[in-house]
Amino acid sequence: SPVMASEKEAALAATPSDSPTIFDKIISKEIPSTVVFEDDKVLAFRDITPQGPVHILLIPKVRDGLTGLSKAEERHIDILGRLLYTAKLVAKQEGLDEGFRIVINDGPQGCQSVYHIHVHLIGGRQMNWPPG
Ligand code: 5GP
Repeated sequence: SPVMASEKEAALAATPSDSPTIFDKIISKEIPSTVVFEDDKVLAFRDITPQGPVHILLIPKVRDGLTGLSKAEERHIDILGRLLYTAKLVAKQEGLDEGFRIVINDGPQGCQSVYHIHVHLIGGRQMNWPPG
């Protein structure tokens, strides 16, 4: 894929669709990643472009139509809860006792670039508000 100047550029170039994404290859271990947590439902691995000392992505191993949060249906309620609960466990595991940021980017305006739902867990530095 082309080298992108920024996350925003990548997000605007991404086509919201149901096609396979790079995260399928991360789940299958075809593409290496630094896994920090894994169970039968969730995979958590370090973001390749970290936005803080800790930056982890949590994803469902089976996407089941959940390309983004805006596509959530009632059947996804359990996995959505599990992603957030796992984020809390991983935050603890990473020693983020002073706090952390959880982000779910959705769609072009939300700067989503990979259409397999993912929760960003970012920490290890002081965050600011509002976000960019
Ligand atoms: P989004 O912009 O869709 O919310 O987040 C996608 C995230 O996936 C970005 O933060 C980006 O750095 C990360 N990412 C994209 N490709 C890879 C990859 O191959 N490996 C890892 N570890 N992270 C990736």
